[in-house]
Amino acid sequence: MAYLLSKRGNAKIEDGLVVKLSPDEAKNVDRLSKREIALRSRGLAISNPQGVLVERVNKTFAQHYYPLSITDYAEAAYKNEKSNQQFPILSIDAHDVIGCDFKCQDCLSHGGLNVQSLGIHNFDLPIELYTHILSEISNFSSKRGFSGVKFEQSGEGNPDIFPKRAELIRLSKQRFGMNPVYVTTGSKADEDLLESLAENASFVRFSFPGLDQRSYNMYSGQSHYLFNDAIEKIKKVIKKRGTYKRERDLLIGIRAPLRPEHEYLYSDFAKKIKDLGADAVQFVKILIPEDTGLAEHLLSEKAREDIIKAKSLSGNDFSVALPHELDYIYYGRAIKDKESFPDVCYSSYIHPVLTGRDLFVCTMNEKIYSLNYSFGRFTGRKGEIEDFLSKDNLARMSKDIPKSCNACCSLFDNLLINKVKQITRKKINEELKFYEVIE
Ligand code: SF4
Ligand code: SF4
Repeated sequence: MAYLLSKRGNAKIEDGLVVKLSPDEAKNVDRLSKREIALRSRGLAISNPQGVLVERVNKTFAQHYYPLSITDYAEAAYKNEKSNQQFPILSIDAHDVIGCDFKCQDCLSHGGLNVQSLGIHNFDLPIELYTHILSEISNFSSKRGFSGVKFEQSGEGNPDIFPKRAELIRLSKQRFGMNPVYVTTGSKADEDLLESLAENASFVRFSFPGLDQRSYNMYSGQSHYLFNDAIEKIKKVIKKRGTYKRERDLLIGIRAPLRPEHEYLYSDFAKKIKDLGADAVQFVKILIPEDTGLAEHLLSEKAREDIIKAKSLSGNDFSVALPHELDYIYYGRAIKDKESFPDVCYSSYIHPVLTGRDLFVCTMNEKIYSLNYSFGRFTGRKGEIEDFLSKDNLARMSKDIPKSCNACCSLFDNLLINKVKQITRKKINEELKFYEVIE
């Protein structure tokens, strides 16, 4: 049974129409936690005032939004098109430390080298300045009708080494009502940080360079933090989550790459993670330069079978997510049809990137390298974000993007927002409703 969830009233589809839930169904749906909804999410549905389904978007990955939902993105696009309301920031991606104790072969931040041209001083972020930045961002969004900005911290390296990480996570949640999302290997996470995560985070995602001891060491280029150490860290967070009684809203997931060495390991690994009591495993394609022969990176039949076996562990309480196309070990984010791609980068409006003290448009390396793509640099001046994201500055900044992008790290978000804006334009006199579909 597919339910449709909306802040304005839940529903279901019957005979092609969106209809009310029975009292029993309504009770079942109301009982669901945010975490359960994310694990069961299957995309977006849009209906018109008569309850006719206008659009269904299946290709989605709920943990990409969590703890927000695809409907937050769709509604921001709707309000922008319908009432010309400026986009709030829904999510901020913070790259706030340089340096890592790992030396992963396929590290996208190249050990912090990507951003060193910005100057090391740019990464000097005393907690007072960081507090100011969080206050600017959350005020900006609440003035535009949105609270609970997702605050994703993934470092530009290992985020655990930011000296006041535990305090920052507490502050963001308890003072600014943000939703902290934390991406780490966990190698430098001390007790205080784990405690703060268990108490305040919405999502903790552990990155695994490899799926067993051998490949973990080989691909992380270090031997001080082992596969079993990483497993122990997950166990600790799960236990502390229980202490804070946050099983309903703290999602704990693992992201791990598809690699030739993992041919037989996927299903065992996913089972291990499920048995620990974590919520999700995401297997991802690793980035291979586009000029490398794809044939070298074909997934074997055995690997594919084992991945499908891992996927079969998914259920209402556990999710195994796979790339949309299970073919090559290849990361495809190329903009295939440039003509139909929006000429404005919506992602940069709703999901800018904080790199050091600068607010950037995007996480693509060349965009972070270049100050041409910075909306502005935070200095501590009250209200400065309104200048960074003023209509004039946005128009100037968006001028050459995404024309200058051949691949897009927010491909799906840009296409989704563009689609919702197009539908809204076509049905400008109708009041559309947006639902998250769960099965
Ligand atoms: S843990 Fe992350 S930041 Fe560190 S080297 Fe590996 S990929 Fe790079
Ligand atoms: S790659 Fe280009 S279009 Fe995509 S998010 Fe970045 S700046 Fe925007």
